[in-house]
Amino acid sequence: MTSHARTDPRTGDTAARLRGAGLRVTDSRRAVVEALLEHPHASADDLFGVVAQTVPGTSLQSVYNALGDFVDAGLARRIEPAGRPGLFELRVDDNHHHLICSRCGAVEDVDCVVGAAPCLTPSDAHGYAVQVAEVTFWGICPACSAAADAGPGARAEAAAS
Ligand SMILES: [Zn+2]
Ligand SMILES: [Zn+2]
Repeated sequence: MTSHARTDPRTGDTAARLRGAGLRVTDSRRAVVEALLEHPHASADDLFGVVAQTVPGTSLQSVYNALGDFVDAGLARRIEPAGRPGLFELRVDDNHHHLICSRCGAVEDVDCVVGAAPCLTPSDAHGYAVQVAEVTFWGICPACSAAADAGPGARAEAAAS
């Protein structure tokens, strides 16, 4: 570890991302972007847990504010799977979808088959100009499937992790 934080290329990248989205660069915003890079599909609470370690004194509210600013600026996308807290990611504008494990909550990106929104067309659009189709595939992830095969004890362990 020889590079100072200022010359860390990743840090430079996060500052550039913020500026590119028209946002002022602050330590807490940069830390939230870095946390999102390492933890895509994280909730505000999850991200706060990460950011609080690198920027002591950061409040949960400031993380919420930063995430709201990111979404408004088009830097981040918020997905809201039914019954779960909102999840944030930096992968925007490609109309990708998500696979979510209904047991442990794991989230995977799934490329949009068509590649442009809306990838699904309603049988009857009722005169609406349809702009987006949000698709969430729910299922059981491989880890949970394996745990279920291994018996109830292993399943409990997988659910707790
Ligand atoms: Zn799972
Ligand atoms: Zn995603």
